Amino acid sequence: MEYDVIVAGAGPAGSTTARYCALYGLKTLLLDKAAFPRDKPCGGGITVRCMNLLEDIPKHIKEKECNTIRMHYKKNNFEKTYDKTLVTTVERVNLDKHLLDKAASAGADVIPKSKVEGFFASSNRVEVEASGGTYSASVLVGADGVNSKISRLLGNRQSQSRYILTCEAEISASPGMLQKQGDAIDFYFDAVSYGYGWVFPKKKCLNVGVGCLLGEGQKIKKSFDTLIRRIGLPNLTPPKYALIPYGDFNKKIVADNTLLVGDAAGFGEPLTGEGLYYAVRSGKLAAETIASASEKHDFTQRTLQAYEGKCRSAFSGDFRRARIVVENLGRHPDVGYKMIVKNEPVVDKFVNIQFGDGTYLDFRNWFIPHAPALLINSLLLK
Ligand SMILES: Cc1cc2nc3c(=O)[nH]c(=O)nc-3n(C[C@H](O)[C@H](O)[C@H](O)COP(=O)(O)OP(=O)(O)OC[C@H]3O[C@@H](n4cnc5c(N)ncnc54)[C@H](O)[C@@H]3O)c2cc1C
Repeated sequence: MEYDVIVAGAGPAGSTTARYCALYGLKTLLLDKAAFPRDKPCGGGITVRCMNLLEDIPKHIKEKECNTIRMHYKKNNFEKTYDKTLVTTVERVNLDKHLLDKAASAGADVIPKSKVEGFFASSNRVEVEASGGTYSASVLVGADGVNSKISRLLGNRQSQSRYILTCEAEISASPGMLQKQGDAIDFYFDAVSYGYGWVFPKKKCLNVGVGCLLGEGQKIKKSFDTLIRRIGLPNLTPPKYALIPYGDFNKKIVADNTLLVGDAAGFGEPLTGEGLYYAVRSGKLAAETIASASEKHDFTQRTLQAYEGKCRSAFSGDFRRARIVVENLGRHPDVGYKMIVKNEPVVDKFVNIQFGDGTYLDFRNWFIPHAPALLINSLLLK
């Protein structure tokens, strides 16, 4: 069957791309290898800036609206409650089904249990081979996640330095544990080198995980077990291992009749591992670019390259600066994490990025002149 756009992968990036392509009036097909609803390893933490992009998430999909942040580094603990929601937690099984339904309501055809196996681009068209059949379109959007086949077929190689390794589980917690957790999200900066541990509250369970640079992850299961014991949870649920892209622009994300979005494009925030914001934002930027390419009937790399330019100007500064922070914290954890945990203004400025009220550039511009005083504070304060 003939389409304007085929989107491979119906996670947040793919469903957003498909929804907006359909809203632009493009004949859109959304394929996913899974049957929905399907789960995906994820903390399910949606930042304010991501929630703003998602616009209308129904109340029943929201698990907890978290206003409190707690940070732990060795014997140092920080806690602050903000007067607005910092992170809203969701179950991905529900969020992703909701976004898929939005794409379908906007007019996209959806075919689940259809795995994309390959594609062939020529003469301004792309033929897509999937387990259920062969489809043709002007553009193929690779939204097939962190292990993207489409990315590999574009010639991208998976290199260790491009990923964060995670070990994560959703653990049923007693009413007492859930009450103790309340609406707080916890970060454990001493759980692992070049990364952190987290606890995110859901309605009936806690999402607990550890993530670090892939090259540092040999003992990640041990770090996960230690964190579970430290917070006093039963260690009954086997954890899942998964990767998050360590955001950069070293990949080819655009070719003739093809582009990549979300994790497939390598879009993940290097410091926090946040990927949902980048998935949704890149999906919207992709749809916008495809719609304008469609007006010109030109789907060559040259025209679609506008998408990469938009993503670069939206994300690359943050990715680069966040990587610098990760690498410095990894090299000097005692100085770096104490500077965070013992200085409320550092946390406030960082939280502003998650609220969408600031960028890493704002953070850097504020941090450099304040660094000496912050350092002294962190050395002197008990
Ligand atoms: C442990 C962990 C915790 C995380 N916590 C957070 C968090 O709290 N907040 C946050 O913002 N981000 C978090 N992330 C990152 C976030 O999960 C991802 O960035 C996000 O899911 C990316 O969305 P996506 O649509 O690009 O890919 P995905 O959500 O992975 O969706 C890809 C889709 O493609 C389908 N697919 C794959 N291959 C094929 C194929 N060949 N053919 C057809 N379909 C295919 C899959 O079935 C899947 O549905 C976390 C990640 C991990 C691993």
